[in-house]
Amino acid sequence: MQISRRHFVLAGATGAALLAAPAWALDKLTIVATTGMIADTARRVGGDFVTVTGLMGPGVDPHSYRQTRSDIVAMTRADLVLWHGLYLEAQMEEFLHKLEKRVPVKAVTDGIPRDLLRVHPDYADKFDPHVWMAPNIWAHCVATIRDAMSAARPDLAQAFAANAETYLQDLAALHAYAQKTIATEPVEKRVLVTAHDAFGYFGRDNGFEVLGIQGISTQSEAGLNRIGELVDLLVARRIGAVFVESSVSDRSIRALTEGAAAQGHNVIVGGELFSDAMGEPGTYEGTYLGMIDHNVTVIATALGGQAPARGMTGRLSAGF
Ligand code: ZN
Repeated sequence: MQISRRHFVLAGATGAALLAAPAWALDKLTIVATTGMIADTARRVGGDFVTVTGLMGPGVDPHSYRQTRSDIVAMTRADLVLWHGLYLEAQMEEFLHKLEKRVPVKAVTDGIPRDLLRVHPDYADKFDPHVWMAPNIWAHCVATIRDAMSAARPDLAQAFAANAETYLQDLAALHAYAQKTIATEPVEKRVLVTAHDAFGYFGRDNGFEVLGIQGISTQSEAGLNRIGELVDLLVARRIGAVFVESSVSDRSIRALTEGAAAQGHNVIVGGELFSDAMGEPGTYEGTYLGMIDHNVTVIATALGGQAPARGMTGRLSAGF
């Protein structure tokens, strides 16, 4: 009698949804993740046992993102904070290191064997952070996320392990899809020209030459010299498509297509790629799997390969 009265009071205070939820829902693991890719992965591994807040939404550039006041509140209240590391969140790093003293904080790239990492072309002591572009490397981050979540909630470790296992199978399928799809593309056409150097791991995995207008970070302005060099290269090698990125201004890519056109070579914009951020929440492209499926499918289609119109799962938006 007493219990049901308590339930009644709870329902009255916070709404019917709470009453309908199972008991453990009241005690979820609260996670804050910096990038969308980490947030999505934590949701897959955590399932119904976690509440995940991703700080960086669609189109947000992690190289220049700085934590807001509400981000700070969310992170200091979280049970676990997951960030990327490898100097991706260059503007947040100092804050995250301070936060470590108060809250469990984990860089999800910590567990990647160093020999899988690409050395940063400009700094011998740094690595290229864009590891999500290679699903087989992202798999190491999945394991680190699973372990950090299990350390925070040992009672849920079994569930996290089972979810991670399923997710790793999805990543293996994604890796196989990328390899199979890109293999249909003529080798001489495997040149990927984008706004910044986010696709190095993709290139290494799939035999692509990758040329970014800006470097590994988006922090430096693209020089006119670099634009001129790339225009000459597009013309000389008859490269037919370049790509814009969802989280970087397309101004420099337009300069390339215009420059090539002025030399009588027509270059199309092959599509928009998700480089450092995913698509809209609630869409397939707003998940890690959808993001990579989109990129692989768009690149293959634009550069003379063969890909299913709606991608690996048939869930890509029509007419991307
Ligand atoms: Zn980047």
